[in-house]
Amino acid sequence: MSFLTLTHLEKTFGQNRVVKDFSLDIDRGEFISLLGPSGCGKTTVLRMIAGFEQPTAGGITIDGKDVTALAANSRNIGMMFQAYALFPNMTVADNVAFGLKVKGAPKAEREARVAEMLALIGLADLGGRYPFQLSGGQQQRVALARALAPRPSVLLLDEPLSALDAKVRVSLRNQIRQIQQDLGITTIFVTHDQEEAMSISDRIVVMNGGVADQVGAPFEIYNRPTTKFVANFVGTLNTFEVEVADAASGRVMLAGQGLTLPNAPLAARTGEKLSVALRPEALRLGRLPDAEALLTAQVTDVHFMGSVIRVKADLAGAAVSLDTFNRPDTPPPVVGSAVEVSLSGRDFILL
Ligand code: ADP
Ligand code: MG
Repeated sequence: MSFLTLTHLEKTFGQNRVVKDFSLDIDRGEFISLLGPSGCGKTTVLRMIAGFEQPTAGGITIDGKDVTALAANSRNIGMMFQAYALFPNMTVADNVAFGLKVKGAPKAEREARVAEMLALIGLADLGGRYPFQLSGGQQQRVALARALAPRPSVLLLDEPLSALDAKVRVSLRNQIRQIQQDLGITTIFVTHDQEEAMSISDRIVVMNGGVADQVGAPFEIYNRPTTKFVANFVGTLNTFEVEVADAASGRVMLAGQGLTLPNAPLAARTGEKLSVALRPEALRLGRLPDAEALLTAQVTDVHFMGSVIRVKADLAGAAVSLDTFNRPDTPPPVVGSAVEVSLSGRDFILL
């Protein structure tokens, strides 16, 4: 049985329906990300779970109990926001102790728990500091400790990393995931950053205009997007028009080459055009023995990014992005040159 359930949640502000028929079953200990562009309703879903916003319709249960009508402070939820949410006039230790104090925990218990939480986030020595004496990343770790101190049954994180710089972001997201797994706490993480969501989630909910477009493991969302929106929002997409040579067997033609698509029979009819897509890593540089087709591309741009090289090229009438791994003995392709590109029908995403 799922631990946290959202059933047909709706939220309307005036005439604006910002969350529409949102249902989701979350397992105990699961790490779920709500991923979507700004304004798609992520924060509103989180605030309804926390009890800061009353749903216009629908229900929320936690551990089998209907909490839809419960006040926020009766839901036993820990929450962490984007940034600068610490109490500036309180020490780190007092910030972390805050929720415990509100609950009426005795002093000795508070002190023990604060020490435990500060050790957990790797800031055992900084309990006496004030927030302004900490870096942004340290402040967010304190905010995490403060959210976790009262032992909430659910942890809600609303873009907790978006104010931090790139390196700190990556290190803190890994730390959040590690702590979440160590504690086994059911967590919902809101982000507009697809790489962030993919790297730390058990499952991702891709949201679009207040609706959950697709729910799935990162691998599934990336490789088998079920809507055009998801395909475009998560990762880079190269789209092509192919001609259906035989709908029953999934046979199509691209620039004079035959390819067999997955999911035959195709929805289009034989002789019709079909819109399909490939991820950049499915366009493989060079002549590979396991490929179904070999095409020539004209290189228009090269971005050396370290472990990966992204090549922009014209291929079969489309401007494409192609990713290849760096190899120290092989210089990147040169702009203006022609390169061979290997591809296979099984890698295509049908849109
Ligand atoms: P996200 O977190 O995905 O960026 P939000 O949930 O914050 O999106 O907002 C979704 C939509 O709801 C936006 O159009 C926003 O302007 C609107 N909205 C959010 N909160 C309120 C509110 N309290 N009153 C009116 N409109 C709101
Ligand atoms: Mg938001």
